[in-house]
Amino acid sequence: MSGSKTNGDHTSDTSEVTVPPNFIRYIIEEDMATGKYDGRVVTRFPPEPNGYLHIGHAKSICLNFGLSREYNGTCHLRFDDTNPGKENIEYVNSIQEDVKWLGFNWNDHLYFTSDYFDRLFEYAVQLIQMNKAYVDSQSAEQIRENRGTLKEPGSNSPYRNRTVAENLALFQKMKNGEFDEGACVLRARIDMASPSIIMRDPTLYRIRKLDHHRTNDQWCIYPMYDFAHCLSDSIEKITHSLCTLEFKNNRELYDWILDALDVYHPQQIEFARLNLSYTVLSKRKLIELVQQNHVSGWDDPRMPTISGLRRRGYTPASVRNFCERIGVAKRDSTVDVALLEYCIREDLNKTAPRVMGVLNPLRVVIENFPEDLTEEMDAVNNPEDPTMGSRKIPFSKVLYIEQDDFMEDPPKKFFRLGPGREVRLRYAYFITCTDVIKDDSGKVVELRCTYDPATRGGDAPDGRKVKATLHWVSAQHAASAEVRLYENLFEAENPAAADDFKATLNDNSVRILKDCKLEPGLGSAEPGFRCQFERLGYFCADIKDSAPDNLVFNRIVTLRDMWAKIKKQQKK
Ligand code: ATP
Ligand code: MG
Repeated sequence: MSGSKTNGDHTSDTSEVTVPPNFIRYIIEEDMATGKYDGRVVTRFPPEPNGYLHIGHAKSICLNFGLSREYNGTCHLRFDDTNPGKENIEYVNSIQEDVKWLGFNWNDHLYFTSDYFDRLFEYAVQLIQMNKAYVDSQSAEQIRENRGTLKEPGSNSPYRNRTVAENLALFQKMKNGEFDEGACVLRARIDMASPSIIMRDPTLYRIRKLDHHRTNDQWCIYPMYDFAHCLSDSIEKITHSLCTLEFKNNRELYDWILDALDVYHPQQIEFARLNLSYTVLSKRKLIELVQQNHVSGWDDPRMPTISGLRRRGYTPASVRNFCERIGVAKRDSTVDVALLEYCIREDLNKTAPRVMGVLNPLRVVIENFPEDLTEEMDAVNNPEDPTMGSRKIPFSKVLYIEQDDFMEDPPKKFFRLGPGREVRLRYAYFITCTDVIKDDSGKVVELRCTYDPATRGGDAPDGRKVKATLHWVSAQHAASAEVRLYENLFEAENPAAADDFKATLNDNSVRILKDCKLEPGLGSAEPGFRCQFERLGYFCADIKDSAPDNLVFNRIVTLRDMWAKIKKQQKK
C-alpha cells in the first residue's frame, strides 16, 4: 500500500525511517479505484501574496506537488489575490522563486484568482437571480451583532428580503463604485439560525476602493475568500482541494456555493498544519518581525521562511525530506525544530566536504619547527564518501587552534591541550605545550609547543596515545572570515502562546565572530558553498554578504544531534 512506501525520486535516503502515513493518499487511491474524477489528480497550492512563504507552506507545497507527481497528475500554483490592501508583486515573485527552489514545477499552470474576477462576478449575479444572495446595507457592526453566538441563533437582516431586481441593481451599483466602503455587502441567503455560524448568511463580496497589483483600479468590489476559493477550484477542475484544519468549518460553505451554482465540484480535504517548536509560523507575526526590525529581513537566516532557510544554508532536499517525515495527519501537533536540523545534518553529512576553520583563534608557535618550512598535509574530504578524495593543507611554524581547546588549569574531564600535555593536530603531528604567553591582563595570547616529527599523519610509531585531536590552520596561509552563529529566534518553546510573542525573542539568537581563520582552500568559496567545519558544525557561505575576498559564513547547524536524544527519551 502506498501509505507506507518511501518517497520516490526527490528525497535523499529515508531507508532507516519508515515514512509516516498520509491519509490523503488513501483517499486519492480510493477515488482512482472508483473512477470518481476519471482517474485525474489535480491539486493546487493557493498562497495569498501577502508575505513570504514559510516552512509550514513548504509542507503544503510538498503535499500538493508531491501527490500530483506521485499520481501523474498536475498541481497548479494559484495566487489567492483577493485582498489588495495587503498583497503585492514582491510577494508574488518571492513565492514563485521559493516553490521552484524547493524543486517543484507548475509548468503552464500558473493562475491568479484576480483573473477570474469577471467570472466570479457573474456567479454572484447568478446567485442573486436564484434569490440565494442579497445586498445587505447594515453596517459591519450591525452584521456582527446580528450574527448570534454559538448558543444563540442570529437574526435576519432587515434587507434580507429585497427583491431580485433590487439586489441586481444594488450589486451593479456596488461594482460601479456608487457606494462607499462599508456601505453594503453581498451576502449569501442561507440560514441565520444555522448551528454553524459560517452558514449564517456569509459575506460574498465587499467594497474595497483600493488599487490591485494586477487589475489596478478596474474593481472596487472584491470577493471574499470563501466565495473565490471554491469557485477558483471549480474553474480549474481541481480534484482534491487540500487545506489546513482551520478551514474545516468552511467546507460546508464551500459545498453550498458549488451546489447552489451547480458547477464542477472538487473535494475539500483538511489536514493538520505544521507547528514548529521555538518558532512562529504565521505571516502576520513574521511581518511584524520584519517591519519592526527584529530581524534583518524576510530572508534573515533565523527566519522560518523558505528564503531564510535557503540563506541559512538548508538544501531543498533537506526541507522536502523534513516534510515527508512529519507526515500528514488530521490532528494538530507541534514538531520539534530538532527534526528539521536533523534533516539538514543527514543530507550534508553525505555531501558536504570537511574542512578546518578556527572560530576563536589562539596562536600556537611550534618552536622546533623550521622557520620557513611549509609542509603539505593530506586531508580526507569526506570520510562518508571516499569518492570525494583528499586535499593538501599547509602546516607551518605558526598555527591557530581554538581558544577553548586550551585550558591553563584543566579540570579532570578536559582532555584537550594544557601546559605539559600532548594532543594530536588533525592530519598533522602530535604537539606538546611547553609554555603559555599572556598579555598584561593575564589573558592567554599564545602557546609555545614542540612537535614530534615522527607522528606525521597523526600516529606515533611507538604506539603512545593522546586523548584529543584538535583542528587547526596555518596562520600565514589562513583565509579570514566573518562567521555568524545562530540559535533559535525565540526562547519560548511556543512563542505564539505568550501574551506578546516578541517578548520571548532570544537576545542571543545571532553571534557574529570577526576574523575567524579558515584553511586556505576556503578563500575562494563562492556564495552558497556548504561545508562542515570539523568539530563545529555545518556552514554555508552567505548568499548575500559573502564574496571570495570578503568571506561570511553562516552556521547552519552544530554537529550535536538533539533529535536522536529526543527520540531516545520518547522511547523510554
Ligand atoms: P499564515 O497562517 O502563516 O498567515 P496562511 O494560511 O494565511 O498562512 P496562505 O497563503 O493562505 O497562508 O497559505 C497557502 C496555503 O498554505 C494554504 O493552503 C494553507 O493552508 C497552507 N499553509 C499555511 N500555513 C501552513 C502550515 N503551518 N502548515 C501547513 N500548511 C500551511
Ligand atoms: Mg490564508
